[in-house]
Amino acid sequence: MNTDDAGIAAEKADVFAAPCRFCGAVLRTTMVDLGMSPLCETFLLPEELNRPEVFYPLHVRVCSECLLAQVQEYVTPEDIFDEYAYFSSYSTAWLDHAKAYAGQMTERLGLDGDSLVVELASNDGYLLQWFVERGIPVLGVEPAANVAQVAVDKGIPTRVEFFGDEYARTLVAEGLKADLVLGNNVLAQVPDINSFVAGITTILTPGGTVTIEFPHLQRLMDGNQFDTIYHEHFSYFSLLATERIFAAHGLTLFDVEELWTHGGSLRVYGRHADDTARPVTDAVHRLRDAELAAGLDDMATYERFGAQVEATKRRILSFLVEARDAGKSVVGYGAPGKGNTLLNYCGIRTDLIDFTVDRNPYKHGRFLPGTHIPVHPPEALDAAKPDYVFILPWNLRDEIAAQLAHVRDWGGRFVVPIPEVDVW
Ligand SMILES: [Zn+2]
Repeated sequence: MNTDDAGIAAEKADVFAAPCRFCGAVLRTTMVDLGMSPLCETFLLPEELNRPEVFYPLHVRVCSECLLAQVQEYVTPEDIFDEYAYFSSYSTAWLDHAKAYAGQMTERLGLDGDSLVVELASNDGYLLQWFVERGIPVLGVEPAANVAQVAVDKGIPTRVEFFGDEYARTLVAEGLKADLVLGNNVLAQVPDINSFVAGITTILTPGGTVTIEFPHLQRLMDGNQFDTIYHEHFSYFSLLATERIFAAHGLTLFDVEELWTHGGSLRVYGRHADDTARPVTDAVHRLRDAELAAGLDDMATYERFGAQVEATKRRILSFLVEARDAGKSVVGYGAPGKGNTLLNYCGIRTDLIDFTVDRNPYKHGRFLPGTHIPVHPPEALDAAKPDYVFILPWNLRDEIAAQLAHVRDWGGRFVVPIPEVDVW
């Protein structure tokens, strides 16, 4: 095959990629290709270690028409959420964030006993519980049955459903309309984004407010946060792309806040387009201008990200190899989905990290997908007294280092891999 033929073959190969899930355009620009990886929440039981594992391409492309960054949907949400291992309530910082949000929104929107708050992907009720405490009616919609059951057991009304326009119409037919619709870290996990956002429009009262939180694509790129890319996160959003998607369904984003969560998130506030009593704030204009200044409407900006990720991988591996060569022990802390993207992309197994620990009992005795690194309870860290604690949920580095202050007693040090390898 000559060079021209290879080029044509590569172009044809891209045609096999699914079209943009929002606007349907052909996706021609690669943002980053992380190779092949297993589903990052598929924690393995011991008897599963001696079986084949399915690896899927983890390749992010950007739509030149609408600017939505996305990975192809290889598995159905039903596969992912059947028994989802992530329980939000296990992070103290995240619980505080949820509690503060409930207080702010109750005050800002004047919510009371006649209001209805609907949360999409309500998890174990970690957030809605703070509205319940204030006497405000709530309804959670959560696709993972085992997680939803925890919420129901806590007295938080929760439906086991995938939210979309069809289900929104079912709720409206029951007489339910929401004064506040919220979705935290769910938009990325929605395969049919048009149905999801249309459903929000359907269920929102005429003067209602929707708030959506999602990791900010600009922060992901600025911070080398390639480990927040995984198959369960289908989409990666800038404000520019999000505004287009919501506008297509009759919703105007009228305010935005930048949050510390998940390495840097946006909370956007939306309303019906004709609810013009609430004008678009300066914060929206400023952030839109900042994204344009950062080149987020230019495909070349996305293409540069891939080279940045490869350089980060080399630095992480250099640290681990040098530590091992010096006879040091390295133990992981945490078993988040993002850790699995990083470990698989870098090829880090028990040759470089002995094991990891996690506070979530679901994961104890299981093994990380692909890399087969064992997950133990936190006490195993104290027993092993490693030279380095490699913090996989680096976004919680300060909280975790504070909890593990006693690691210093045996001379242990902390490491985060991202945004740069940092040892302290
Ligand atoms: Zn598009």
